[in-house]
Amino acid sequence: TNPNSARVFSCFDRSLSSAAASGSDLIRATLFPGDGIGPEIAESVKQVFKAADVPIEWEEHYVGQEVDPRTQSFLTWESLESVRRNKVGLKGPMATPIGKGHRSLNLTLRKELNLYANVRPCYSLPGYKTRYDDVNLITIRENTEGEYSGLEHQVVRGVVESLKIITRQASLRVAEYAFHYAKTHGRDRVSAIHKANIMQKTDGLFLKCCREVAEKYPEIKYEEVVIDNCCMMLVKNPALFDVLVMPNLYGDIISDLCAGLIGGLGLTPSCNIGEGGIALAEAVHGSAPDIAGKNLANPTALTLSAVTMLRHLELHDKADRIQNAILNTIAEGKYRTADLGGSSSTTDFTKAIIDHL
Ligand code: NAD
Repeated sequence: TNPNSARVFSCFDRSLSSAAASGSDLIRATLFPGDGIGPEIAESVKQVFKAADVPIEWEEHYVGQEVDPRTQSFLTWESLESVRRNKVGLKGPMATPIGKGHRSLNLTLRKELNLYANVRPCYSLPGYKTRYDDVNLITIRENTEGEYSGLEHQVVRGVVESLKIITRQASLRVAEYAFHYAKTHGRDRVSAIHKANIMQKTDGLFLKCCREVAEKYPEIKYEEVVIDNCCMMLVKNPALFDVLVMPNLYGDIISDLCAGLIGGLGLTPSCNIGEGGIALAEAVHGSAPDIAGKNLANPTALTLSAVTMLRHLELHDKADRIQNAILNTIAEGKYRTADLGGSSSTTDFTKAIIDHL
């Protein structure tokens, strides 16, 4: 059997997918190449999709740290409308200045498009050795509130305040997504990750909602794990976990930790799921300014994110073909980018994926 077939890079959910491909028509999908390494790795995805004859026509928009000279805006109404209309899209990383400037465009997109769940599959890759060979877990991150509500202000000089918002509605919605995901993907356990011993009101409400949803899924085991203990357990033995669901900030941190277990941020995909069946795929990593423009970036994470988008569209044959080509290229070991210890450029690695299709 193909060792790759157990790894389903999927956010696919038939009940949510309103954008299923029909017949031989070209499907329009939005593409935001983003900042830093974004345009380089987005180009890789376009080339791989073209070589694999994926019936997708990209509708490309610039959204990122530079003001669009035509509109004098960071994010345009047309860009948002493009995702709302197409219902599927792929976004590259978007840079956010640290401690100053505008509100994160990632936050804005998630809020505006109501992208309530961020699904981050993380698997040990066959043939790429790390300390672990049995990582097989899915982080599901609440994506619209928590510490990332964007509500921060100075109280008086020298004192600032950030508000953490947790609502029953958003917690139930992401918990429901996590249990439903577990059920439809043959997974038998959901762990809610929290710090409710300290954050009693906010994480307390999050847990209460997870428990309520857990009762509707008696076939799925449910457990609650305090986040600090979860980090220790993940590093000691990642096979202890299956599906993890958690508030926004914890999901951001835990998923980078998980990326570290399997070889780094160049490898981990994700997909944002929104109201009305929207799926906006993106890599877990950021714009990697240290290697931007140098043809060094690993396009795997973004391309596997695009694979989750194909599964959302029920284009499973294309998704399998591209996924296998990527994983086989990495396993073969002849072409690897620098983050994986190799010396291939982004473009050479992309060519190798295409040769493996
Ligand atoms: P980062 O993920 O961009 O980079 C962290 C490290 O991982 C860097 O050493 C980088 O070179 C490496 N790396 C990341 N992706 C890689 C790839 N595909 N191939 C090879 N190496 C890769 O994190 P950062 O440096 O903390 O953030 C840079 C910018 O990205 C910031 O402005 C941040 O706000 C933004 N960011 C955006 C997103 C997003 O758009 N979803 C996510 C995280 C960070």
